Amino acid sequence: MAKTLENVSVATLKGVGPAMFKKLEQLSIHNLQDLLLHLPLRYENRTRITAIADAHPGDHLVLKGQIVSTQIQFGRRRSLVASLRDETGQINLRFYYFGKTQQAQLEGLPEIRCFGEIRRGASGLELYHPEYSNQLNQPLETTLTPVYPKTEGISQNQLRKLVLQALATLQQSQLLANLINVPGRPLITDSLVHLHQPLANSDLERLSEGLDPAQRALSFEELTAHQIGILFMREKLTQLPAPQFGEPSGLVERFIKQLNFTLTQAQKRVAAEVSQDLQRSTPSLRLLQGDVGSGKTVIAALAAVQACENQFQTALMVPTEILAEQHYVTLKAWLEPLNITVNWLASSIKGKQRNQLLDDLRTGRLQVIVGTHALFQDQVSFKQLGLAIIDEQHRFGVHQRMALRDKGEKQGLMPHQLIMTATPIPRTLTMSLYGDMDCSVIDELPAGRTPITTRIIPGSRRIEIIDRLKAACVSGAQAYWVCTLIESSEILAAQAAEDTAKQLEKALHPLVVGLVHGRMSGLEKARVMERFSNGEIQVLVATTVIEVGVDIANASFMVIENAERLGLTQLHQLRGRVGRGQSKSFCLLLYATPLGEVSKKRLNVIRHSQDGFFIAEQDLIIRGPGDVLGDRQSGNVNFKIADLMRDQDMLDEAITLARQLFSENSTVAKALVQRWIGSVSDYGQV
Ligand code: ADP
Ligand code: MG
Repeated sequence: MAKTLENVSVATLKGVGPAMFKKLEQLSIHNLQDLLLHLPLRYENRTRITAIADAHPGDHLVLKGQIVSTQIQFGRRRSLVASLRDETGQINLRFYYFGKTQQAQLEGLPEIRCFGEIRRGASGLELYHPEYSNQLNQPLETTLTPVYPKTEGISQNQLRKLVLQALATLQQSQLLANLINVPGRPLITDSLVHLHQPLANSDLERLSEGLDPAQRALSFEELTAHQIGILFMREKLTQLPAPQFGEPSGLVERFIKQLNFTLTQAQKRVAAEVSQDLQRSTPSLRLLQGDVGSGKTVIAALAAVQACENQFQTALMVPTEILAEQHYVTLKAWLEPLNITVNWLASSIKGKQRNQLLDDLRTGRLQVIVGTHALFQDQVSFKQLGLAIIDEQHRFGVHQRMALRDKGEKQGLMPHQLIMTATPIPRTLTMSLYGDMDCSVIDELPAGRTPITTRIIPGSRRIEIIDRLKAACVSGAQAYWVCTLIESSEILAAQAAEDTAKQLEKALHPLVVGLVHGRMSGLEKARVMERFSNGEIQVLVATTVIEVGVDIANASFMVIENAERLGLTQLHQLRGRVGRGQSKSFCLLLYATPLGEVSKKRLNVIRHSQDGFFIAEQDLIIRGPGDVLGDRQSGNVNFKIADLMRDQDMLDEAITLARQLFSENSTVAKALVQRWIGSVSDYGQV
C-alpha cells in the first residue's frame, strides 16, 4: 500500500506515548490524516498587541503594560487583583486561584505581556486568569492560534505541537493526495496548512463562521465523499431484483370500501405513487412525509394489502412498543375482515406465543407483522418479505433500516421500502442524507380537525392548571399529562411519572388517573392504553413513550411539564396526540423558570404554529440540522466539517461531482469515501 498520512500512526509523533495514544483514540484520531482533519473550533489572535483603550468585552487580546498596583480583595470569593496600565488606559487582571508568592511576584515585574478574554467585571473591564509573561523579547506569534474542539485531557498546547509535526510531514512529502481539484477552490493540502496555521492577516470573522475558502473546500470534499458513499450504497441496493407486484385489485378495493372515512385527495395521490413503486421490478425506496395526524397509517395498510394480493409479506417497523401495539390493533381491525393475518412482535412477547409467531412468519401463515426493533433479531425470518415499512423513521438509524431490508434479501429479492415520517426534512437535507430518494407528501389533513390552542405557562402555576384540567375532564374530556426529564433515563422518568400520578390522583378525585411509562411491561402498557381508549381512565400520566403515533380521538387536553427540555419536533409530535376529535383541544406547555432566550423562542414557535414543516424548519434554524436529524441511536450521518445548513449552496455541485467521479473514476471515488467515511464496504453495510 502506498505510504500516505492515513497509514502513519500518531504513535510515530514525538510526545505520543501509550497514554496520549489512548486519549487521541478517544477523539477518533488514529493516524496523521485524522489528526489534520481535526480542525480548530476557533482561533485566538496573539499576533499583535492591542492598546488597553481599544479592548472590548468578549475580545481575546494581547495587552502590554506595567503592573501599577496589586491587592487581595475579599468579595464573595477571595481574589488577587493586579492593575495593568499602558499609555492609553488601565485594566484589572483578576485571579481567583493564586499562590502565596504570586502577588509579590507580580508587583516585582516592571512590564508584562498578557493574553486573555476581556470581560465586564466588578471594576469595569477585567481579564480573568490571563496568561502572562515578562519575557518581552519573545516574538509575538506570527499565525493565529488554533483552539481545537474537545480534547479529552489533552491540552491545547500538546495538541498544537502534534499538529505542527503532522503539518511538517505533510509539507515535506505529499503524503496526502489532493483528490479533488476544482478550479477556484484551494487544494486540501493547502487548506489544511492554512486552517491549522492561519496567517496573522487572515479574516478571523470568516474563519469563525466556517466560510473561509479553505474551510469551504474541505466541506465541499466531505459533501462530495458523502454523496459518493450514498451512490455506492444505492448501487448495492439495486443489484438484486425486487418482487414485482401486480396492479392493486379486488382486495385493495374492498379495503378502501370498508374504511369508515374517505381518503383525502392527498392520500389518494400518495397511495397511487406507492402502488406504482410496488409494481416495479427494482427495489423502491420512498420517503412519505405527512404531518402528525395526516393519516399515514392507512397508506401503509394499503401497500400491505397490495403485497398480500401478491403473496408477499409486509413488515411494519415502529420505534416504540406502544405504537407497535396500537398499529397492530388498527391493522387487525382493517385487515382481518379481508382474511389477512396480522400480528405484532416486541421484546416483551416471549415464550410459546413468540415461538408460534416466529414459526408463522417463517411458513408464511402470517402475512403482516408489526414490530419494534425486535424484528431485526436473528430468529426472525420471513417466508417472502416483499415490503418493509418504517414508521417514524427519524427514530431509527440508517443501519437499522438496512437490517430489516436484509431480512428480505435472503430470498434473492430485495424488498420494497416505504419510510414514513412526520418530521419533515427539507429536500436538500434528504438529498444529502439519503441521496435522490423518491418523496411523497400528504399535504392535507382529514376534514373536521379542530386547531389546538397552545399556551406557555410557568410551572409555578401548576395548581391552577390542575384545576383547569379537572374542570375539563369532569365535563367529559380526556387528558394526557406528560412528564419529561433531562436525562434520558427511563428509570428516573418512570419515577417522576409515578409521583405525578399519585399527586394527581389525590387532586383530581374522583377522576380516574392512569399511568404509562417505559418500565412497564408491554402487556401492562397495553392494558392501560386500552382503558384510556375506552374511557375508563380520564387522565393518563405518561413519559414521552406516548410521543409518536398514539391515536385516541377523545383526548383533547394535554399538559407537558418542563416542555423546554424537549425538541420542537418532539413537542409537535406529542401535541399531535390531541386535536384528533371534534372537540376543541388544549395543549399547555409548563416550563421551569427562568426560561432562557433560545427556549423562549422555541416554545413560541410551537405556540404559534401547528404546521410541522414550519416547525421543523424553525428547529433547523434555531438548533442546526445536527440536532434535528441526529437521532438518538446514531447511524445518521455526522459530518466532520461540513454543515448542511451553512454549506447548502455547495450541495448541487457536490452531487454532480459525486456522480461524475462515481461513474468515471472509481479509484478517486473510493479514496474519497475512505478518507471521509471509512471503507466503502462499511458504507455499503450501514
Ligand atoms: P399519522 O399521519 O400521524 O400517522 P394516523 O395514520 O395515525 O396519522 O391517522 C390519524 C387519525 O386519522 C386516525 O384515527 C385515522 O384513522 C384517521 N384518518 C386517516 N385518514 C383519514 C381520512 N381521510 N379521514 C378521516 N380520518 C382519517
Ligand atoms: Mg403515525
